[in-house]
Amino acid sequence: MTDLTLEERLEEAVKTLKVRGVRMTPQRYAILSYLLETRSHPTADEIYKALADRFPSMSVATVYNNLKLLKEAGLVRELTFGDQASRFDGQMHDHYHVTCIVCGRIDDFEYPPMRFIEKEAERLTGYATAEHRMEVYGICPACRKAQEEAKQMAMVTAKAAGNEH
Ligand SMILES: [Zn+2]
Ligand SMILES: [Zn+2]
Repeated sequence: MTDLTLEERLEEAVKTLKVRGVRMTPQRYAILSYLLETRSHPTADEIYKALADRFPSMSVATVYNNLKLLKEAGLVRELTFGDQASRFDGQMHDHYHVTCIVCGRIDDFEYPPMRFIEKEAERLTGYATAEHRMEVYGICPACRKAQEEAKQMAMVTAKAAGNEH
């Protein structure tokens, strides 16, 4: 599924919507293409800002409603984080996410789904388990670099200040 080109995936999406009796409008097409191309897991607001130039009459609410429709058709995933704005993902295959605690960026990380955790939960609780979520948090490479540079700058400044005495 992940080996398909962007065009092939969009073609598939058109078919999927057709089966559900939903028309692929230019806005839906643009939203889905954007989600398939970007790896940043944008919010509805970010998608709106990225596409606003091309669709001046489109509102954030329209983007959100289209995302909901695409989600119901199984074409996008909604990532919810408590009371923070949902983020959207066009990658439908099983994968995990790592989130930056400094800037909030989310990256995919490919790892075979850990079904054993569901089996264990089943064994320990008697639930018939269906899926699991695992979130990894840390500091992204860009933020690490910025922190490293800030640290070096602080050291240089401290040294310069020390030399004045
Ligand atoms: Zn970051
Ligand atoms: Zn993802």
